[in-house]
Amino acid sequence: MAFSTNESEAAVRNGAAAAPVGPSSLGGSVRMAAISAVTNYRPISPPLNFTQTPAQELFGCNVFGKAQMKARLPKPVYKSLIKTIEAGAKLDPATADVVAAAMKDWAIEKGATHYAHVFFPLTGLTAEKHDSFLSPDGDGGAVAEFSGKQLIQGEPDGSSFPSGGIRATFEARGYTIWDVTSPAYILENPNGTTLCIPTAFVSWTGEALDKKTPLLRSMQALNGQAQRILKLFGKTDGAFVASTAGPEQEYFLIDRHFFFARPDLLNAGRTLFGAKPPKGQEFEDHYFGAIPERVLAFMLDCERELFKLGIPIKTRHNEVAPAQYEIAPVFESANLANDHQQLVMITLKRVAEKYGMTCLTHEKPFAGVNGSGKHVNWSLGSASQGNLLDPGDTPHDNAQFLVFCAAVMRAVYKFQGLLRAVVATAGNDHRLGANEAPPAIISIFLGDQLSDVFNQIKAGGAKSSLAKGTLNVGVDVLPPLPKDAGDRNRTSPFAFTGNRFEFRAVGANQSIAGPLVAMNTIVAESLDYCATKLEQATGGDPSQLNAAIQSLLTEIYTEAEPIVFNGDGYSEAWHKEAEKRGLLNLKSSVDALPQISTPETKTLFAKYNVLSEREVDSRLDIYLHQYCLVVLTEAKLMIEIAKKSIFPAAIRYQNELASTCANLKLVGYEFDTDTLDQVTELVKSLQDSIAVLKKTLVHHSGGSLLEESRFCNDEILPAMAMVRKYADELEGWVADDLWPLPTYQEMLFIK
Ligand code: ADP
Ligand code: MG
Repeated sequence: MAFSTNESEAAVRNGAAAAPVGPSSLGGSVRMAAISAVTNYRPISPPLNFTQTPAQELFGCNVFGKAQMKARLPKPVYKSLIKTIEAGAKLDPATADVVAAAMKDWAIEKGATHYAHVFFPLTGLTAEKHDSFLSPDGDGGAVAEFSGKQLIQGEPDGSSFPSGGIRATFEARGYTIWDVTSPAYILENPNGTTLCIPTAFVSWTGEALDKKTPLLRSMQALNGQAQRILKLFGKTDGAFVASTAGPEQEYFLIDRHFFFARPDLLNAGRTLFGAKPPKGQEFEDHYFGAIPERVLAFMLDCERELFKLGIPIKTRHNEVAPAQYEIAPVFESANLANDHQQLVMITLKRVAEKYGMTCLTHEKPFAGVNGSGKHVNWSLGSASQGNLLDPGDTPHDNAQFLVFCAAVMRAVYKFQGLLRAVVATAGNDHRLGANEAPPAIISIFLGDQLSDVFNQIKAGGAKSSLAKGTLNVGVDVLPPLPKDAGDRNRTSPFAFTGNRFEFRAVGANQSIAGPLVAMNTIVAESLDYCATKLEQATGGDPSQLNAAIQSLLTEIYTEAEPIVFNGDGYSEAWHKEAEKRGLLNLKSSVDALPQISTPETKTLFAKYNVLSEREVDSRLDIYLHQYCLVVLTEAKLMIEIAKKSIFPAAIRYQNELASTCANLKLVGYEFDTDTLDQVTELVKSLQDSIAVLKKTLVHHSGGSLLEESRFCNDEILPAMAMVRKYADELEGWVADDLWPLPTYQEMLFIK
């Protein structure tokens, strides 16, 4: 492939050589222009050269990480910082000035002119406030300054960020607070660079207004409880037990010309219209297929940018749907994984533009083909103990593993509603429960072998003395557990995959912080429960431990067993079975979101100091509000497109048919009016359905947020579905050159 910065080529790429698009031209010409631009695409950026600068050299070059700190900070300051980063020790504020100065020098060497506190408001997006390093020196010049205070704390005007009633607009004060555990980095732009400092965002009363604060708090809670379990096993080194996360991001890539010719994609991130193409994903020819050259070029560039930021990208491949791909890093400590995940989403979108494409991270950009999820792999571990969900080889390790594993099982069983709620968004509703993604019922896939182990424990523990051959924890009859706990199950929302759990219900567009906070906190609660039971049963006598574990595991598995399901999560039979087992089946966001603030979850979050009652309530408000906003915006957009693009195209075609009919009659021919009849009927249905949707929107009452959300779900979405139904049917009738929107076939297959 020839790379060139040639202007005429760039013009072709930008669609200049294609058919002119003016107000007088029909909708179809916009599509033709897009197609022409796509097929004439030539890369405009110069090729990357990995021989000149190997990926290894690039990795972390824009991060103020340990190596930089060690080289630039006085030893005691460095040591104190590392203690905070690795062992969760309190930050010594006295070190801030020294760190700030070193950071500033490093950043300026890298061309930085500004610094930015980066934070993660409850919109799920990333926010940043930039300030220049320069201050007037009083003599008409300027000096570069960056104090410890500026590093530690910033004060963005917080009034534009959702607070869910925690802060009235007149109390705009919000603070960003340096998160030492996530390293500062340089964000590059052709015209300069910015020093970015990851921060937590809180109100002036200290309440969390963001996704990071509760994540850090939940990690602390998890560590506290995990230490108690480890202590029972004689492991008292105290190394911080962190939750770890490896998020696999799915996304779509389509040519930008198509994107800009679709107001629904542009404004809602998903198509509100579009008939299913004759060829979809039925051939199963895309998954793991050869990556198209332009896409691979994009991936290489994207990964290079992410390497610079120290993000350990490992995996790339085609996904199931046409034009769908996946990117996954090696797992990291949950907080860092969260910050990096946000950067991955931003970088995917930024770099895609460079290659003339748009990256869609919506959960369901195209109906009828697979949607995008974000599988969040989750575990917990420490520097000294390694991964605590690794079964290990010896019976003794097995016992410890089984306690942690049972704790997760109990947690998911007890708080299945919360886990469902943290993946509830308007976008993810199009995915969960449909026959492609995990169902809305939360269950755990353990695999046959691990299920069998728990079944045997349950059977053995039920008796007072163990029958010969029954599995007994901590005694050598327990065989080494296989690392690969059986087969994979793509239909499970929460699967054990050998040494971690994979939470598959998370949406592609979501911040992973919510799911991580939930996981960390519910597992902390279960570990607390286990530790308390075991401490009581052993009374400090280690020889009692195995028996105590045996009865604890039996008790947990007996209670939580209904959450374990190894079968086909898509099947109708499972829905019935789940109902019999008493599992929740919360089909929509509106059903699921209130689970965030049940008395049980409020007690949970308060007990482990993760979220206060007020913080929990504010979050529910914000998520419901966001849900309504999305549905209402999409509904308005739908009316607009249906009225101004689709309806006109349909009546133009209707007119063509009618005049053909009239003209033929004049010269004495019969015209078969089948098509005209069909189109006329569909035009009428479309018009009627638009009117119904409009009326529904007007009628919608201003009740509570929950009532409003329910109205969106029960009334607006079905009304939208009707508009789409008729519009998509019309797409099958109207002449191709009149159809105004790029079709599914064009968007998904023309690359
Ligand atoms: P698959 O597609 O087969 O599920 P991938 O290799 O795409 O697997 O992704 C697996 C993810 O799980 C990676 O991000 C990997 O780093 C992560 N992972 C592995 N071990 C752990 C762990 N202990 N904790 C959290 N995530 C983990
Ligand atoms: Mg996976």
